[in-house]
Amino acid sequence: MSRKPEKLIDKKGLRLDGRKPDELRPIKIEVGVLPNTDGSAYIQQGKNKILAGVYGPRELHPKHLALPDRTVLRCRYRMAPFSVQERKSPAPSRRDIELSKVIREALEPSVFLEYYPRTGIDIHIEVLQADGGTRCASITAASLALADAGIPMQDLVTACAAGKVDNTIVLDLMDTEDKEGGADVPVALMPNLNAITLLQMDGILSLEEFEKAANLALEGCRKIYPMQKEALKAKYVSVKEVEE
Ligand code: UDP
Repeated sequence: MSRKPEKLIDKKGLRLDGRKPDELRPIKIEVGVLPNTDGSAYIQQGKNKILAGVYGPRELHPKHLALPDRTVLRCRYRMAPFSVQERKSPAPSRRDIELSKVIREALEPSVFLEYYPRTGIDIHIEVLQADGGTRCASITAASLALADAGIPMQDLVTACAAGKVDNTIVLDLMDTEDKEGGADVPVALMPNLNAITLLQMDGILSLEEFEKAANLALEGCRKIYPMQKEALKAKYVSVKEVEE
């Protein structure tokens, strides 16, 4: 068992991994990584490694779930048994089911659902390695996978969390900060529309601290958004080069 760290913020104001309070973990994003899907994306955010694959819009099975006026967005978030220190059972946990719902609801407002009546769009999220903030990194990747599948959207959705550790509000919590810290506020944003699609809070914060954390998380989303756009562009530049 890992020992509880003495302090999450050192005398210089730096965190366990050397980051400043308002610093993101290193992020790497790739779009179009799974040729067998209609759209896909891969994200590495710190030690998180997450794949998102999209199928659709296509005929929905079972058919009785189909809606006459819009597509049905379905999402499955899954953690690989080897993604965390203590082996995770491959059976869906309550947390997996909750996160699947939360992620779907964060993405739904961005998609023009009414364009594809009587169909379904399936989003599959596979967490290969987890280190805190997987719901946010999953949303960031899944939104790109939807865009890669050519699904018309109002905007990309970008997500990031902020929280409190050792009485300091910090951005993009990693696993130890998430577990040992005081609170966690995951936020998802459509940056171009400035519309929030997810806002959760785990832990206890004063109103002032909550506002500070939510604003810091929004700032984090705005920093990740250009990285998403770059990753999308990189995919299409490579496709164009192959075609030429
Ligand atoms: N975690 C774990 N075992 C589990 C589920 C989660 O070790 O069965 C870790 C994992 O690193 C995850 C973190 O706990 O990222 C925080 O989980 P939380 O439920 O807060 O969601 P997240 O922060 O990943 O969105």
